Amino acid sequence: MKYISTRGQAPAQSFEQVLLTGLAPDGGLYVPEELPKFSKEEIAQMAGLNYPQLAQKIITPFIDGAIPDDDLEEIIHRSYKSFANKAVAPLRMIGANEWVLELYCGPTLAFKDFALQLLGNLLDYVLKRNNQKVVILGATSGDTGSAALEGCRHSDNVDIYILHPHQRVSEVQRRQMTTVLGDNVHNIAVKGNFDDCQRIVKAAFGDQSFLPEGRQLVAVNSINWARIMAQIVYYFYASLQLGGPHRQVSFSVPTGNFGDIYAGYLAMQMGLPIKQLIIATNSNDILHRFMSRNDYAQGELKHTLSPSMDIMVSSNFERYLFDLFGRDGKALAAFMTDTGEGSHSIDSERWKQAQKVFASASVDDETTCDVIREVFAENEFLIDPHTAIGVKAARECNTDKSVPMVCLATAHPVKFADAVKKAGLDTPQLPEHLSDLFEREEQYAIVDNSLSAVTDLIRSTL
Ligand SMILES: *Cc1c(COP(=O)(O)O)cnc(C)c1O
Repeated sequence: MKYISTRGQAPAQSFEQVLLTGLAPDGGLYVPEELPKFSKEEIAQMAGLNYPQLAQKIITPFIDGAIPDDDLEEIIHRSYKSFANKAVAPLRMIGANEWVLELYCGPTLAFKDFALQLLGNLLDYVLKRNNQKVVILGATSGDTGSAALEGCRHSDNVDIYILHPHQRVSEVQRRQMTTVLGDNVHNIAVKGNFDDCQRIVKAAFGDQSFLPEGRQLVAVNSINWARIMAQIVYYFYASLQLGGPHRQVSFSVPTGNFGDIYAGYLAMQMGLPIKQLIIATNSNDILHRFMSRNDYAQGELKHTLSPSMDIMVSSNFERYLFDLFGRDGKALAAFMTDTGEGSHSIDSERWKQAQKVFASASVDDETTCDVIREVFAENEFLIDPHTAIGVKAARECNTDKSVPMVCLATAHPVKFADAVKKAGLDTPQLPEHLSDLFEREEQYAIVDNSLSAVTDLIRSTL
């Protein structure tokens, strides 16, 4: 299987090449030239598989022989072994035909462990095989950083640099990153917001001349295809537990960078019967404005109680737009690089097509707290603010109550104590393996909001 760029001007690449890079040289993102498809019968035969077994079925066609089956099996098994729940992604009922898929049982308590545990192990395997060293560079709005560090720090073949917006991540999130100590681990607090961090990372990928000879940057943000690939699995897993593929299932997905919900869209394209895909955003509502009003203008970034979705530039949306533009990379490149003032929209036929695939809602901080309280009152079950946004959007957009609605629970509430407190509830306890988090030594650098401040730091510490 070959991977092509959404902007149509870069050569096709293999899985391994795509794994070891970030953006395509033309500024686009890599997507498979053709998606693997599963028939209803094939999906039905996956019922009863445990999580790693199912992951292997879904992932194998994407890897396309780059890793022998036995080794892949071992890599996948190792990636999900440390999850605190045997089911890996357990479902919990919170209302009539309404469920949450608990995606926070991994080592850093957010769904990003699903992708980054696997990505870390895939990278380690391939780099060892190639006898190659790389520099991992990523930006985080909070959860990617710790998940990437946890997934990659054991590899002797990587140096890892994670940028986070200074004083814009929760204390638990910061400590989960800055207490990971190691010669190959570097946390950088940038005096700016997440979009600034993401911009710096993109610019560094665009001109890697600051790196020593023979080194290259590898992305751990969801521009890395392997992350999206790993996330497709749990859509199949949830569906199979709720009667799929013989029955449709709907999903509500808290999203900012469009990574998680894009994986759901791919699951649907691969043959999984999905009724509704609901985009749940906070007040940074560019995706909701696009879906509801064909308005893709970038607004001012707002800081909310759901900081992992405080994003205006939604990277992965480009991957969906590529399909919506009939895979016409040139047309898409023109749209993506035209940053005109004011409103930004696409032609209405295409927009209507998008509306057939996705529903959407935007949820403010006050409602987020209301929902945390409501779900707790109904179930004695505490959800985090991101998950609350998904639950609210599901309740708002659900068009068929006879179809199971699965809300993706993207983080453990302990990571977002502020929101829980604002909702008037007691802060939950840190799980055992993190119980001394507040006593651990922290290490991080604080730098100016500029590309050169970051590249200078990388050069001087490599
Ligand atoms: C990263 C993150 C999201 C959003 O994920 P996308 O890749 O933007 O879809 C939602 N919730 C939590 C807790 C996250 O860490």
